[in-house]
Amino acid sequence: MQINEKQLRQVDRQVKRLIRSDNFYGKRLEDAGISEIKSVEEFLRLPFSQKQDLRDAYPLGLMAVPEEEIVRIHSSSGTTGTPVIIPYTAKDVDDWAEMFRRCYETAGITNRDRIQITPGYGLWTAGIGFQAGAEKLGAMVIPMGPGNTKKQLRFMHDMKSTVLCATSSYALLLAEEIRREDFADQICLRKGVIGSERWGEKMRRRIKNELDIQIYDIYGLTEIYGPGIGISCDYECGMHYWDDYIYLEIIDPKTGKNVPDGEWGEIVITTLVKEGAPLIRFRTHDISRIIPGECRCGCRFPRIDTIMGRSDDMMKIKGVNVFPKQIEEILAAFPELSSEYQIRISHLDGRDTMRIYVETNGHVDFQKMAADVAAAVKGRIGFTPIVKVVELGVLPRSEKKTQRVIDERFQ
Ligand code: ZN
Repeated sequence: MQINEKQLRQVDRQVKRLIRSDNFYGKRLEDAGISEIKSVEEFLRLPFSQKQDLRDAYPLGLMAVPEEEIVRIHSSSGTTGTPVIIPYTAKDVDDWAEMFRRCYETAGITNRDRIQITPGYGLWTAGIGFQAGAEKLGAMVIPMGPGNTKKQLRFMHDMKSTVLCATSSYALLLAEEIRREDFADQICLRKGVIGSERWGEKMRRRIKNELDIQIYDIYGLTEIYGPGIGISCDYECGMHYWDDYIYLEIIDPKTGKNVPDGEWGEIVITTLVKEGAPLIRFRTHDISRIIPGECRCGCRFPRIDTIMGRSDDMMKIKGVNVFPKQIEEILAAFPELSSEYQIRISHLDGRDTMRIYVETNGHVDFQKMAADVAAAVKGRIGFTPIVKVVELGVLPRSEKKTQRVIDERFQ
């Protein structure tokens, strides 16, 4: 999806703002002798920005406006080392809320809904983003935050919540608890807005069926506002994203070149109107593709596909590139298995070994199940893993992100 005239003018303004602010990217532009962007070719020559640049700018080196204009910061949960601090102006906060309002609207949620928000509040962009968008929509917010499942269910029942906002793993945990308590016919949920985590079709179907709700995937990252820059619609064919706020490219992660629409690659995002911390050509490491053509829902905004994984999640095992999503798809073909799995990669006796833990109920032959799964992986990916079958509920579920791949080779 080539950058259009209006977006180019917006990028030009961002570039000039960054140079004036003298932040890391402004300096980079000056070093490269770039002072304006007037054509597609000039845009495509702009350097990428990376998570590491943002870490290097800690604490407030990203700030591109005078400090008086900053009203809030958020921080991304760096798994290692220095966190990233993103400063927001009042307009940034409002723009983000507007994008999120649009997400709810795309999901058919209205000011008559009661929205139970379970993602965390605080430095994290999740909870507060869900809340600001819901308030802008005029819906009633039930700001639970994470945890305390019993209380969640009580409020869901007593407050007659109609919309659940959650990570996929927490939505699953709630769904399982609701089933255990045989509680499903006593709640009023009709929709779920699920974000911030890669998840498979099987998990989605399970949450959908157990809770009997329509599910929408929300996309976003702290570096670019937070969740809410895109969402799936009723047709479940990718996520619409707001191209009046962000310009999105798909690149080949190795060459850095744009790939044609429809092809998979890494999402790179440029903010078009952000003030506090504009980012130009930010590499997200999320793998997706532009879905060509118009959506049947009639929404004019372009679409990306469900996130396939992280470009840095790609595992190289016995010389073969493997995405966790591929394993997920193989497992999804076995109706006896739950949606949970764990992959452990280790290096034993000079060889890479992949162990896959899967869950099932007690009614199947564990040994045969393991052999069948191993054969399916061999057939699709080309090597045979060690498959361990465990009882349903044994693998860890978490309220935040569930770690599914553990690479012990580097520990
Ligand atoms: Zn649509």
